[in-house]
Amino acid sequence: MGSMEPPRAEANGGSAAPAYNGGGPTANGGDSLAGRKGKAGPGAVPLPLEVGTRVMCRWRDQKLHPVKVIERRKVSSLNSSDYEYYVHYTEFNRRLDEWVKLEQLDLESVETDIDEKVEDKATSLKMTRHQKRKIDETHVEAGHEELDAASLREHEEFTKVKNIAKIELGRYEIDTWYFSPFPPEYNDSVKLYFCEFCLNFMKRKEQLQRHMRKCDLKHPPGDEIYRNGTLSMFEVDGKKNKVYGQNLCYLAKLFLDHKTLYYDVDLFLFYILCECDDRGCHMVGYFSKEKHSEESYNLACILTLPPYQRKGYGKFLIAFSYELSKKEGKVGTPERPLSDLGLLSYRGYWTRVLLEILKKHKSNISIKVSFICDPCRY
Ligand SMILES: [Zn+2]
Repeated sequence: MGSMEPPRAEANGGSAAPAYNGGGPTANGGDSLAGRKGKAGPGAVPLPLEVGTRVMCRWRDQKLHPVKVIERRKVSSLNSSDYEYYVHYTEFNRRLDEWVKLEQLDLESVETDIDEKVEDKATSLKMTRHQKRKIDETHVEAGHEELDAASLREHEEFTKVKNIAKIELGRYEIDTWYFSPFPPEYNDSVKLYFCEFCLNFMKRKEQLQRHMRKCDLKHPPGDEIYRNGTLSMFEVDGKKNKVYGQNLCYLAKLFLDHKTLYYDVDLFLFYILCECDDRGCHMVGYFSKEKHSEESYNLACILTLPPYQRKGYGKFLIAFSYELSKKEGKVGTPERPLSDLGLLSYRGYWTRVLLEILKKHKSNISIKVSFICDPCRY
């Protein structure tokens, strides 16, 4: 493993996992609403807006973007009819979904054509059982195969709204991206405070401060199996460090849409990549791996935490997973489907590997595409 080159923090170009704002809403949201059909005037829109309403919403770039209302809730104010709305920006990934206030919505752009819902229903009624099953099957996420379509819909309903908006981890406050099934007593917290070493989480800052005074860990539990300069990799056995493994899964789910939360962490090894300094080893990302995979998967989940993205860490984690497979004398491949950012990391990794092979062998090599694509067939 000693031959592996660590990523260079300054090498921003060869990004492993681009931050979401790279692909954020663009300027084409359509500020110009004049002349659009099927729009109601502000006076004509009954409030509160219905769930499912499509409307334009002013985003953090101050431009208007199309959204769909996913959920609404009353806000505690003098005016008991005030609501805020959880919206999905229809052009973009779910990680940008957020609660917005009524003022951010352009009520003139509310689509009055409510036939869509009726149409949806009609289509669903017309579908044959076979067509329906096909659709249901394509919606089944990896790890959710055991769920029938009804349970899956229930799961999607349950996870549609982010429960925790922010976390504090080490010196970073991080906006979360997705729902994570924390124990119910944590669900009324907007922000959770994590111990960056043992990953215990708390609802209040004072609890974390108290915890930090007595927490002995300065790095992930488990064995340090790689070190290069200030970078270290720790191997954590889920069976020996159950609570750590579970805490890591809760944390990771906040940034992975399709991750199945494994309570049975016994079956997994976790590889935690850390940047180390005199205060301790700070997790930048990780990947998990089944101890015994019948399908030769060498990686189950991979995540670079948002503050450390675009530095090459994702590709480093991928390279590490292949090195482990080599040591085991196996051909490994990641579990699919990959997340959108995971897919980008793997593409980046294999592009670099292939370019290096081509450069080394100049014109004396022919590459069979089917073979090359196989290890990363997403
Ligand atoms: Zn701790």
